[in-house]
Amino acid sequence: MKENPFVFTDSNKRYYTYDYYGKKTFGGKVCKVPLDGGFTCPNIDGRCGRGGCTYCSGRGSGDFAPSPLLPLTEQYDAVRKIMDRKWKVTGYIPYLQAHTNTYAPVSRLRALYEEALALPGALGLAIATRADCLEDDTVALLRDIDKRTHLTVELGLQTIHDDTARRIGRGHDFAAFLRGYEKLAGLRVMIHLIDFLPGETPDMMLGTAKAVAALRPHGVKFHMLCVLRGSALEKEYRAGGFSLPGKDAYIDILCRQLEVLPPETVIGRVTGDAPEELLVAPDWTRKKIDLLNSLDKELTKRNSCQGKFVETIQKNG
Ligand code: SF4
Repeated sequence: MKENPFVFTDSNKRYYTYDYYGKKTFGGKVCKVPLDGGFTCPNIDGRCGRGGCTYCSGRGSGDFAPSPLLPLTEQYDAVRKIMDRKWKVTGYIPYLQAHTNTYAPVSRLRALYEEALALPGALGLAIATRADCLEDDTVALLRDIDKRTHLTVELGLQTIHDDTARRIGRGHDFAAFLRGYEKLAGLRVMIHLIDFLPGETPDMMLGTAKAVAALRPHGVKFHMLCVLRGSALEKEYRAGGFSLPGKDAYIDILCRQLEVLPPETVIGRVTGDAPEELLVAPDWTRKKIDLLNSLDKELTKRNSCQGKFVETIQKNG
C-alpha cells in the first residue's frame, strides 16, 4: 500500500473505485440496486431504430434487474436481500437500468422516480438512458431531483467513432451524444464505454477514453464486449465477422485508458457482468475476480495509476 501513488483509494486499487466513492460520500458501502421500470428504447421501437444495438440483450442491458412485471418495491427487496447476504451495506441507490429510463412522458417519469426515491434505505437514484432521449422537460425534472438527492445519470456512449456506432446500430452519432451530454451540464453523469467493439483497434479505444476524459465526467464504466445468446452480435460473431481478444489485451487497453482519465473520475466498473447462461464469448469474462486482480497487478507492474498521463495530455494536447 505504501508505494501506491494513487490518492483516491484506501486499498491496493490504483483507480477511483465506486466502492471508495461510496465510503467517502455516504460513510460506508453503497450498492446500486438494478431495477426494471418497464420501459422500451427508441432504438428498438422504431423512433430512431429497430432491433436495438447489436450487442443488446432482450432485457435492454438490464439482465440483473428482476422482472418488470413485479412492482418496484418487490424488485428492490429481492435484490437487496441478495446484497445483504454478501456485504454489510450502509445504503442503496435504486438504479433504473433496463432499457431507456427517460423514454416516457414526464408525468410517468416523475411518478416512477419518486417511487424509487421513497424506497427504504435509498440514498439517491441512478437513471440509465441515451443521450438522444433527453427532452427539455425531462432534463428539468432531473435537475429538480438532483437538487434533492444524489442523482446519477448513466449514458451509454460505448465509442466516439461513428463508423463503429453505425456498425453496432447505436442509432445516434457522437455529435448527438455531445448535445445530450451538454444538456446535463452540472449533473453527475456516468459514461459507459465498451472495448473491442467490432473493427476497433486499441488506438481507437484509447481515442475514446481521451475524448471522454476531456469531458471531465463524474464517472466512467468500462465494459468488455460480451457476445450474448440471441443478440444480432452473436450471428455476426459466429459468421466470423470479428474476433475477440484474450484477457491480457483487455487488461492492457484498460490500463492505458485509466492512465488518461482524470484521477477524480469515479470508475463505476472495469468490466460488465453478463448472465452466465447468455454469455457466448469471451469465456474469460466469467472470472471477474481474476480479471480485477490482473488489472491491479498490471497497474502495479507498470508503476501506473488512473490519471498518470493527464498532465502530459493537457500540456501536449
Ligand atoms: S440503447 Fe440500450 S436498451 Fe437501447 S438498444 Fe441499445 S443497448 Fe439496448
